[in-house]
Amino acid sequence: MSVGQNGRWPKAFLKPIMSFAQHGPGYLSLPYEALFDDRVIVLKGRSMGLGRAEVSHLKGILMHDIMIRGGLVYDGLDPLPQQLDIAIKDGLIQAMAANLTADAKVVIAAEGAIVAPAWVDIHTHYDGQVTWDSEMNPSASHGVGTIVMGNCGVGFAPVPKGGEQDLIDLMEGVEDIPGSALHEGMPWGAWETYGEYLDLLETKTYALDISSLIAHGAVRNFVMGARGRANEAATQDDLNAMSDIVEQALRDGAVGFSTSRILGHRSITGDPVPGTFANEIEVLAIARAMKRAGSGIFQLIPSSTLGSGREGFEEHTALSDEIDLIAKLSRESGRAATFTLFQVDDWRDQWQLALKQVKDHNALGAQIFPQVGSRPTGLVFSLSTYHPWMLKPTYLKFKDLPLAALREKLKTPEIRAALLTEANDPRGVAPGSMTFGIAHAELNHAQIFELTGSSSYEPTAEEAFAHRAAAQGQVPGEYLLDYLLATPNAMAIMFFTNYSEYNLDAVRAMQMDEVTVTGLSDAGAHVSLIFDAVNPTYQLTYWGRDRSRGEVLELGHLIHRGTYRNAQLFGFTDRGHLAPGKRADINVIDFEGLQLGPLEVRQDLPAGGKRLMQGATGYWATIINGVVTRRFDNDTGARPGRLIRGGTAGAQ
Ligand SMILES: [Zn+2]
Repeated sequence: MSVGQNGRWPKAFLKPIMSFAQHGPGYLSLPYEALFDDRVIVLKGRSMGLGRAEVSHLKGILMHDIMIRGGLVYDGLDPLPQQLDIAIKDGLIQAMAANLTADAKVVIAAEGAIVAPAWVDIHTHYDGQVTWDSEMNPSASHGVGTIVMGNCGVGFAPVPKGGEQDLIDLMEGVEDIPGSALHEGMPWGAWETYGEYLDLLETKTYALDISSLIAHGAVRNFVMGARGRANEAATQDDLNAMSDIVEQALRDGAVGFSTSRILGHRSITGDPVPGTFANEIEVLAIARAMKRAGSGIFQLIPSSTLGSGREGFEEHTALSDEIDLIAKLSRESGRAATFTLFQVDDWRDQWQLALKQVKDHNALGAQIFPQVGSRPTGLVFSLSTYHPWMLKPTYLKFKDLPLAALREKLKTPEIRAALLTEANDPRGVAPGSMTFGIAHAELNHAQIFELTGSSSYEPTAEEAFAHRAAAQGQVPGEYLLDYLLATPNAMAIMFFTNYSEYNLDAVRAMQMDEVTVTGLSDAGAHVSLIFDAVNPTYQLTYWGRDRSRGEVLELGHLIHRGTYRNAQLFGFTDRGHLAPGKRADINVIDFEGLQLGPLEVRQDLPAGGKRLMQGATGYWATIINGVVTRRFDNDTGARPGRLIRGGTAGAQ
């Protein structure tokens, strides 16, 4: 046979190393070896046009590490799937074609399954967990292959010697990660600078790849100390020091910079995150540091993300002014920016105005990608995690009883009545703690619903507890308490974003918009309150398959956003796309059988900390860096995941 033109094109040219560029396309020095599917074939002749090269002989058959056979492949880029085999060797995809004949050490039968790139989750808070855990759940159990942590202005580096408690207070308050777990689980003292923190992470191995943003809160705390935590304005010296730290962190491998500007994010002591009120001078000084480093994403949660704030807690800046500032910093830095965008009850249509404003700015040279969620954000209430009666004096008397006994006790009429009428006793709890927050929260019973592992997250207004309570002639608080007491492990959820119209049409529109990116899983944070780390699976099961209250989303569209698009945003050009030469980070998913698992409260954090967990069934295999990390929903124990540094290893 001849090669090229009328014959077949090799998948790869092996030897000699002579690129097309050296001779121009179609001209090669012969003889050399070429790879056809799995066959190494020697081509003979003089330097000539490829169309006239002749096959000399078969040199051998390549042995691959893994062969995925017969799956319906969504490559992350093309919205339409193809039935293809995928051959993997040395961490990379070697070949993709129908009916590859190669041999492999491991064959994964994927007939009836879909095959897609492993998910890239760009919004997580694993900053503490990565120092004590390698399995990386919940994300690993949902097919995530790469995470970005250090979001929302909170992180653990740099840290002044002996100053870890301030950062623990921040993380415990903002992200609801138990301080005791952070205290006992993390090897404090092993780093001071951001670079040293990354160096520590580089010595570790994981079930998936990790990457990290440098957080404004940590930088401000490091440079300005108590003044930074009190959110005083930065002096010129402060600005110089902060910019230098950010620039160096980006050079050392941070994949960007994050900041929180919303009042709701507070440390355990009740203070807004350092940087919340940072003025334009400070934000632009950091933008210029990013320009000097020439890498990184700017991530932020703007003021007014959740509305203008209730009386006494008014946000400092309107969302539209925040977007103008984001545009300025994106243009000034030449870097892309991503910010949290929700639908909120205050302003049901604000998200549409925000998208329009972003597009106008992007047309003028900004690069802004609003980050949107997959469902409403909600707070989970249960007797074993958080609930509104945690600070009632009568509850405090019995709180240490085993759960079953506690339930029985709280059901007795006089105790139940006391819970419903008593005032909180907040002594002994920090004002920024979640316990304090939930106990004092104004409950919106019109947005409280039953929660189980199979909840759709799209209930009707009639299912809201306010409605149900009225139907039974109860006050809503009473209904909620009785509901949580009625069955063991009962859970309820109070939505606070993306559900103003009692359907997910706004979420769908945000997911369809060409300027948005999918994120906001907050994986690793809010461990007893929110569990949107399951979003990749929810995307497939609900948005791709089960939704009946409106249109679904195309599978190819969902996969593209959760893989290729997110990888590109962070410059991870080696992944998120199934193609020869790309990283073998791959999920094999039984799409028809895919289900979210039961919701469980586990006490498996360091120092006995609790967290909500929800697994999945239907991930037949997850392959990371060419190694099978999960098989039939179980961890294989393999840890091929590593730290990715920005500007290197496929990240730019
Ligand atoms: Zn966050």
